[in-house]
Amino acid sequence: MAIDLAFDREHIWHPYTSLKNPLPVYPVVRAEGCRLFLEDGRSLIDGTSSWWSAVHGYNHPELNAAVNTQLANMSHVMFGGIVHQPAVDLAKLLLSMVPTGLNKVFFADSGSIAVEVALKMALQYWLSKGVSAKSRILSLSKAYHGDTFAAMAVCDPDDGMHTLFRSQLTPHLFAPAPQSRFDGAWQEEEGQKLRQLFERHHQTLAAMIIEPVLQGAGGMRMYHPEYLKVCRALCNEFNVLLICDEIATGFGRTGKLFACDHAAISPDILCLGKALSGGYITLAATLCTDKVADGIAGALMHGPTYMANPLACSVGVASLKLIAQNRWQQQVQCIEQQLNTELAPARLLAQVADVRVLGAVGVVEMTGNVDVALCQRLFVELGVWVRPFGKLLYLMPPFLISSSELTALTQAIVKVCQQPILTTQAPLPGA
Ligand code: PMP
Repeated sequence: MAIDLAFDREHIWHPYTSLKNPLPVYPVVRAEGCRLFLEDGRSLIDGTSSWWSAVHGYNHPELNAAVNTQLANMSHVMFGGIVHQPAVDLAKLLLSMVPTGLNKVFFADSGSIAVEVALKMALQYWLSKGVSAKSRILSLSKAYHGDTFAAMAVCDPDDGMHTLFRSQLTPHLFAPAPQSRFDGAWQEEEGQKLRQLFERHHQTLAAMIIEPVLQGAGGMRMYHPEYLKVCRALCNEFNVLLICDEIATGFGRTGKLFACDHAAISPDILCLGKALSGGYITLAATLCTDKVADGIAGALMHGPTYMANPLACSVGVASLKLIAQNRWQQQVQCIEQQLNTELAPARLLAQVADVRVLGAVGVVEMTGNVDVALCQRLFVELGVWVRPFGKLLYLMPPFLISSSELTALTQAIVKVCQQPILTTQAPLPGA
């Protein structure tokens, strides 16, 4: 039976869309490796890893086996008062991989919730110490940390996707978005400006939250690792906790296992998600140091129903075991080289403002917002799956993509960015 598109259009919300005027959707019936199979028999090469998550591709035999084995045992059991092997295995693996110092794990059920928990940890840490004045968070312009209310409050307040709710959000402090490019020179004044903010506000700051090296949904901006080093040093100096949100960047995407590794720093609190469960089931985690955990008096009042879901943890273990084999390093390096070479011609095009690549992420920034529905139709006609947002056409394919599949993606991007795809309509966000 065909997927009921009319029903879908009438009744089901899709991410970041209006039900009154929804964007077209494409019915997918199967996915395998780097390909999505449409109901009409066509297949598309995936350039999105389903929003950073499916790093090992789709329908992966080892990930499938992990889910199936766990399914035969128990798909879910509450985590309150109960523990199970998949949770312990996943926590052990995670702690063996993450930057040094992180030693405690809270399993959350989505990236936004991992951010909520991180903020709660930081605020409770200072409350427990009796320093109630430290109640604000320092974030960055162009930041994106999720869609729930506390997470929205640390997203870019002016130019982000949640400005509609501004009056409902806790007012925090925002530093300008980092300007020194990842591939450019470090501008010393950036560090000095940040220092001034810390000097002025540290007594009210519980934590700084930052997407290390790559600001994702706020504009796919790749900034200089020195900025991150400065953040770590200032947080140490001024007694502010550092929260790194690696929900998008974690597990190899930027060419290092964690984006923090570009600056050789370790946060006090780390948020992970997306690739953690290989794109199979929603799962996220908030990790912290002993210092943070020891500083939190009493219970951490968070406990989602599906916390540490055994199916999700099992597939997480399988996903991390694949990561731990380290094939991603070579794969991401090849993808980076190929993206650099094959997206370069787009630089010469009149409608293109910038081309940038970091690890397995390739971005073409246009001079204006793009018509998403039109772009998606053009991409599907070219046999690829790419989901633009704002001014950006971008690729972040599964790590195991073949060189010829990646060429199909880059060629499609270069072709589409020559078409009349710019629009005056308001931009559509993406993750
Ligand atoms: N933080 C970052 C950096 C993200 O990219 C995202 C997801 N796009 C989130 C948080 C929120 O994660 P989720 O969509 O799983 O709630």
